[in-house]
Amino acid sequence: MASSRASLFGLLMIGGLMGMSNLIANESVMGDTTHLESSHFEEGKYINANPEIKQDMSNLGSILKRYLFEKRVDPTPENVPLEHIDANNLQLDDKNAVYRLGHSSILLKLEGKVWLADPVFSERASFVQWAGPKRFHPVPLDVEQLPEIEGVIISHDHYDHLDEGTIKQLNSRVKNFFVPKGVDAHLKSWGVSEDRVHALDWWESVEVGGVSLTATPAQHFSGRGLFDGNETLWASWVIKTKEHSLFFSGDSGYFDGFKLIGERFGPFDITLMETGAYDRDWADIHMLPEESVQAHIDLKGKVMVPIHNGTFDLALHPWYEPFNRVSEEAKKRSVTLATPVIGEKVSLDHIESNSSWWLNARQFIDKLDDVHAANLSSVAD
Ligand SMILES: [Zn+2]
Ligand SMILES: [Zn+2]
Repeated sequence: MASSRASLFGLLMIGGLMGMSNLIANESVMGDTTHLESSHFEEGKYINANPEIKQDMSNLGSILKRYLFEKRVDPTPENVPLEHIDANNLQLDDKNAVYRLGHSSILLKLEGKVWLADPVFSERASFVQWAGPKRFHPVPLDVEQLPEIEGVIISHDHYDHLDEGTIKQLNSRVKNFFVPKGVDAHLKSWGVSEDRVHALDWWESVEVGGVSLTATPAQHFSGRGLFDGNETLWASWVIKTKEHSLFFSGDSGYFDGFKLIGERFGPFDITLMETGAYDRDWADIHMLPEESVQAHIDLKGKVMVPIHNGTFDLALHPWYEPFNRVSEEAKKRSVTLATPVIGEKVSLDHIESNSSWWLNARQFIDKLDDVHAANLSSVAD
């Protein structure tokens, strides 16, 4: 019961139940993609491309009941293995690489420069640091050691993706911030100068230092308090350099946008795909692991890195279930997964599948090198 209460508080912290409880069936509108050509802003609120996806209180009672009374299985790990990143040596490492920093926080090395996506370094994904979802593991690098950051990319304004403390901590070292429309207001209120914030609508692109960024559609919602629901846009991101192509999902339910993005920007060397914090009661705004694999296929991804897991307890599933389900489905669908330990490098020039570290997370800590040696297999594209 204690963990159910903690988790319920977590759910409230990351965006409010009003958004989580959209339960209107998602009628597929495949074929006609005009609804995806732009974001939809009506009466001060963004709405999803499929208007059937509603953000309302329709199922609040049933969700609350489940959070209070459902018996939880392994909501949090005893230990999560970690590879420390020496931020001082980042410059010397691979020129093109991806590192998971936890949950959906990603460090990207693109053509030798450092980028961050949805960086959350605080102890809790919450509007206060004395309550709310607490991280399972420390951040795998000393944030103060980070070199100049070429760009910070934000998918939407939920607490597990946009953290005020982290933005303030990084601010002086970041050249540019890239956010969906409306999210710029948060950054500016935290002291980020206007000239460094680029707020993009869906399908808008910017190019910075040889990296092209496009905000692309997602099916989700936004808000940081009880009264600001959906006032800012949510997005996924296409990130391209001369040599590489990446997709960062942000948060999204499964929808026909993935296919359209795949057609316009695919194939992708790597897709960083939301795989966690899902539930049958909010399946329209967070994908089930099987849908994450389908989305990766729709996007024409080559290697999929499951993210949005392993750091915070935000739903009702066991902490390791996203990894197990996505692995099973990937095997069935012949999809190549890369599942790095938090902090472990995934080189874009030589992608490795990594080990199934979650299967024995506790023992893994003592046997990191053995497990690596046994499980690493090259899947270079
Ligand atoms: Zn979200
Ligand atoms: Zn999220």
